[in-house]
Amino acid sequence: MNGRSKGHETIKEEYFNKRRKAFDDAKIRREEAERKIPGLKELDEKIARVAANILEAASEKKGEEFEKRLEEIKAENLALRKQRDQLLIKNGYPADYTKVRYECELCSDTGFIGQNACACLKKRIALEGLLNSGLGKLVKTQNFETFRIESYSDAPDPKKGYSDREVMKKILSDCREYAENFSADSDSLLFVGQTGLGKTHLSSAIAKVVIEKGFDVVYESAPNAVSMIERDRFADDSEREDKSARLFNCDLLILDDLGTELSSKNTPAIIYNLINTRLVNSKPTIVNTNLAARELERTYDQRIISRLFGEYRVMLFEGRDLRRAKI
Ligand SMILES: [Zn+2]
Repeated sequence: MNGRSKGHETIKEEYFNKRRKAFDDAKIRREEAERKIPGLKELDEKIARVAANILEAASEKKGEEFEKRLEEIKAENLALRKQRDQLLIKNGYPADYTKVRYECELCSDTGFIGQNACACLKKRIALEGLLNSGLGKLVKTQNFETFRIESYSDAPDPKKGYSDREVMKKILSDCREYAENFSADSDSLLFVGQTGLGKTHLSSAIAKVVIEKGFDVVYESAPNAVSMIERDRFADDSEREDKSARLFNCDLLILDDLGTELSSKNTPAIIYNLINTRLVNSKPTIVNTNLAARELERTYDQRIISRLFGEYRVMLFEGRDLRRAKI
């Protein structure tokens, strides 16, 4: 079972419990009111009988008689309800005191409006996705809204002939477009560039948008990913948590800091297997690395390089280190 379906089961249960509690609370209020207000219980019983009559009438043959009878019962029901409202008000209660109070009136806490997910359910799923993504607080400070293009120099580089800001403007708009149009068939991206140029910021920004669309996103540093996979590989079945399974199965994996993992002799094979498996299964991945192709080649084997530079869309983050520029 991957994290997504587990999370969705929890949310389903949450909605079930929320709705049940709304009913239970309303029942408690009704019983209290019936105890305190003389005549209310009798009136409620009368209303219940009328409601039963509606059901009975509806099961009968349709025709003129039926329509007439139904109208009569409806009128009776309405009159009794008005009487009930007044009785509550007269005794100092609001007319809707015993009504079921849902957290979300739009979907009555079912999470659905017809076949469609209610806005409250979409929000809840996005929150769960955020909690499960590994992004934690990062996403609060590092999203598209907080990305400052002005902090990149607009002075053209004498050698290149264009400015850092121009480069970043293009990258920023590509990243936005990627996030907004994300689907299961999206490309994989390779962010290459020195530390401090916004690779983590923009991948976190993409993650936020993609999570809000309802996709399962995992954000993990390459060193953590390697140790998670190693742990699960050597754990016996009873200990296995299969956290690593989500790295392989999620809709979008963001692998930060490739090249900084403590290189055990298994590392290149583990990274290759992860990257290759996701490519074979057409699952998009975003890889961030500070290393240039030549340096990557020294740490990993040629197979990884040809996968990353051959099949990923490469985005080159150029310019000065922003963190250093700010000092
Ligand atoms: Zn709702």
